[in-house]
Amino acid sequence: MAEDAKRYHRLQLILGMLGLAVTGAYFVVILFAGLGPRVARWAGGLSDALAWRVAAVAAAIAIGQALVTFPLAWLRGYWLPRRHGLLHQTLGAWLRDRLKAALIGGALGLLTVEIVYALMATTPLWWLAAAGVLVALQVVVAFVFPVWLLPLFYRLTPLADEHLCKSVVDLVSKAGIPVVGVWVADQSRKGRTANAALAGIGRTRRVILFDTLVARFAPDEVRAVLAHELGHHVHHDVWRMLVLQAGLTVLALWLGDVLLRAGANWWGWQAPWDPAGLPWLVIVVGALGLVTAPFVNAVSRGVERQADDFALELTGDATAFIGAMERLADLNLAERKPHRLKELLLYSHPSIERRILAATASRSRAG
Ligand SMILES: [Zn+2]
Repeated sequence: MAEDAKRYHRLQLILGMLGLAVTGAYFVVILFAGLGPRVARWAGGLSDALAWRVAAVAAAIAIGQALVTFPLAWLRGYWLPRRHGLLHQTLGAWLRDRLKAALIGGALGLLTVEIVYALMATTPLWWLAAAGVLVALQVVVAFVFPVWLLPLFYRLTPLADEHLCKSVVDLVSKAGIPVVGVWVADQSRKGRTANAALAGIGRTRRVILFDTLVARFAPDEVRAVLAHELGHHVHHDVWRMLVLQAGLTVLALWLGDVLLRAGANWWGWQAPWDPAGLPWLVIVVGALGLVTAPFVNAVSRGVERQADDFALELTGDATAFIGAMERLADLNLAERKPHRLKELLLYSHPSIERRILAATASRSRAG
């Protein structure tokens, strides 16, 4: 098992780095081949409307990127997980899921660049105005995520198991928080991996459990997972992460403003808001996202550690928590002890080993 997990994660890392290299090379090529100016000029011949020219360049970039990265996405998302028994979806079902995700991502991406360029043509402070609008859009997406988006990929049913339901109500009242709905997603149709999350904002806030977790975990282990998710609720983690994203969005668009102005001189676009410069803006924002990802991951690991501490405190049952971690590691073929550098750069959660160590420490403190 451990060897299998090691092999799986080594290959995932290699394929992930290859994917990054291919994406980087793709953007360098389209930048120097002048894809932006060419498509912008062609679109301008049909109609002068800014929204249309922006859409044409954005679609060209996105479709090209989807095509060049597809083989690696298939290897990472389908071939490798299937080979290791994590996924049992048919290729058709997997492709349908991917297409749905691409259409939703594409629509949101297009909306984003249209907002950015419309504001760019209006005000020099576009980056601040656009950041405000995009953060509002992120809040809306977070709100509708569990009720509109997730059901496109999973059938969601309220947790039916009476025993577990009672456990939830007990935990929630012990934590002194208003009732949070618990829903089960039919992941078992797709694969064996288990997961849980707190999703939504306000009225749509709820805990989502994969049915693989409900089926394979002992009741006190499900309680431990639920308690962790309630920790996210109590700590307002959806909001905390949104605030962090908001800060990064302002930074990214401000940097985009500075470098679009410089880029207009280097590459001879008519103006910073000339859609010909869109590939350059995507490179700037993407590169910043890459550079800041380890920081975001570090914050996320801190948030996850706090949710773990909350769960241990609430249930007072470190043994069940450790059991849940062991089971998660097995089902998800997790790398229990990744290289420290890998954990620092890429992990949004502390490693399983670290989480188990923390629980063991809390047990010996309590005992
Ligand atoms: Zn969590």
